[in-house]
Amino acid sequence: MMITRIAILGAGTMGIGIAEVAAAHGCHVKLYDIDPSAANQAIKNLSTRLDKRIAKGKITDDDKQSILTNILSVDALDALHDRELVIEAVVEKLSVKQDLFQQLEQICSAQTILASNTSSISITAIATHLQHPQRILGLHFFNPAPIMKLVEVIAGIKTAEVVLDKAVTLVKSWGKVAVKAQSGPGFIVNRVARPFYGEALKMKQEQLADPATIDACLQAAAGFRMGPFALMDLIGIDVNFQVSKTVYHAMFEDPRYRPSLIQSEMVAAGLLGRKSGQGFYHYNQQKTDQSSPYSGTQKDLPKSIQLNESDHPFEQLLSEVRDICQVHSGGLNQVGDTVLFQTVGHCAGTLAQQLKKPVCLVDWSFDYQQAKAVNVCFSEQVIDIDKNHIIAMFQAINKQVVTIDDMPGMINARVLSMLINEAADAVFNGVATAEDVDLAMQYGTNYPQGLLAYAEYIGWQNPASVLTELQQWFGDDRYRLSPYIRRQL
Ligand code: NAD
Repeated sequence: MMITRIAILGAGTMGIGIAEVAAAHGCHVKLYDIDPSAANQAIKNLSTRLDKRIAKGKITDDDKQSILTNILSVDALDALHDRELVIEAVVEKLSVKQDLFQQLEQICSAQTILASNTSSISITAIATHLQHPQRILGLHFFNPAPIMKLVEVIAGIKTAEVVLDKAVTLVKSWGKVAVKAQSGPGFIVNRVARPFYGEALKMKQEQLADPATIDACLQAAAGFRMGPFALMDLIGIDVNFQVSKTVYHAMFEDPRYRPSLIQSEMVAAGLLGRKSGQGFYHYNQQKTDQSSPYSGTQKDLPKSIQLNESDHPFEQLLSEVRDICQVHSGGLNQVGDTVLFQTVGHCAGTLAQQLKKPVCLVDWSFDYQQAKAVNVCFSEQVIDIDKNHIIAMFQAINKQVVTIDDMPGMINARVLSMLINEAADAVFNGVATAEDVDLAMQYGTNYPQGLLAYAEYIGWQNPASVLTELQQWFGDDRYRLSPYIRRQL
C-alpha cells in the first residue's frame, strides 16, 4: 500500500517545496511550523507561485486546486498522530531535530516512518535517543524541491532496509530520482562535489588563472552548466565555506577536503557573492571591461595538419578539422612542428623535453563536439606561427580558445580527475553504489554525465595519471589515488 498521509515539519523553503511535490502526487499533507503564521503564509505564497505557472500554461486551475486542497496547515504537533510518514525540514540544528523526533515518537504510531531533510547532519546522530531508530532515515531533497529531480535516501546505522525501500518507492512515485546512501559527511552530492570548488579555489590561490578563465574552461570547454566561481557567488560564499568546513572537520581533517583561505578572507570582508553585490564577480555596478579569457581572432589557418585517427577521445575534436584544412594520417597529432596531446597531467614543457619537439596540450571536455571552447597550453618552444595556426584551427571549427600557463593537469583535467577520485572513493567506502553516485551528480548538480561513466569512457589510466602527477608536483596527500581507481587499471 502506497503511503498517502504525510506530515511536513517546517514551512520554510524546503518544507513547502516538499509539501507541493507530495500534494501534486495525491498525498494528503499536514504542514506544521513552530511559527504560528508560517504555514499559512507559505501556502499563500505557494498559491501565488502556482498562479504564475497557470499563466505560463504549465498547470491548470484544477491542478492548483487539488494541490492546495491536499495541504492542510496545522498548529500543533499532536495533529500529526495519524500520519504514515513525517518529513522534518526545520532549522539545521541537531538538538532541535533530536527533540522533535523524540516528541513525534510519543505522538505517532510505531509504524510511522520518520524522515529528515537535513543536508549535513548524521542521520545516526539524529536517531540517538529514539526508541525505534530503525524507522528513521534521511530524505534529502534539493532546492527547489518541485524542480530538482534528485532525492538522496539516507540510511543511519540502525535504519531498516524495508523503511529505505518504502521511501524509495514513494519518492519515485513522485517523479523523483532516488539514490540510496549511507549517512556520512555530505552524503553523496555535497561530498563528491567538494573538489569542484576546492580545486578551483586552489588554482586561483596558486595564481594559475583568474576566476573568469577557470569558469570559462570548466563551463565552455569542459561542459559544466556553470563555472565554480559563478556558482559559489550564486550559492553564497559563506554558505559554501560553511559546508566545506563541516565536511572537512567531519572527515577528521583529511587534506582532500581542506577549505580555502580565499573563502575565509572573503567571508571576513563580507564579500558573499550575488546577495552582497560582490563575490568573485561584481553584481551591482554597470558591466566593467573585464578582460576576456578568450584568445583574439587568428586568421591564418595551417595548410595541412597530421592526425592520429585512433587517439581516443581526442579524435572527436580533431576530426572536425577535416573540413577546414588538409589532413594527413600519422602517428602524432601535429600542426607545423608542434605536437598536440590531450593532457594526462604532465607539463607541456616536460613532454617537449622528452620528445625533443614543441608541445601543445589540450584540456579535457565531457564532449568535445558540443564544447564551445577549447583550453590549451604550450611548451615554451612553440613558435608564434604554430600557436596562431592552432588557435585559428580551433576558432575555424567554432571553438573559442583559452590559453593558460603550463601547469600539471591544466584546469579541467585537474578538476575532473579530483571529482572522479572523490566519486570513486565514495563507492570504495560504501557510501553508495557507482550507479547511484553517477545518478546523484547528474540529477543533484546537473553534471552533464556521471563521473564514473566519464572515467570509463576516457579510460581510468587518464585520471590516475593526472592525480599521480599532481601528487608528485605538490607533494600533497590531497591527490592520493582512490584504491577504487587502482582496481580499474
Ligand atoms: P528555512 O529557514 O527556510 O525554514 C525552516 C522553517 O522551520 C522555518 O519556517 C522555521 O520557523 C521552522 N522551524 C524551526 N524550528 C522548528 C521546530 N522546532 N518545529 C517546527 N518548525 C520549526 O530552512 P530551509 O532552507 O527550508 O531548510 C530546512 C532544512 O532543509 C534544513 O535542515 C536544511 O539543512 C535542509 N535543506 C535545505 C536546502 C536549501 O537549499 N535551503 C536544501 C536541502 C536541504
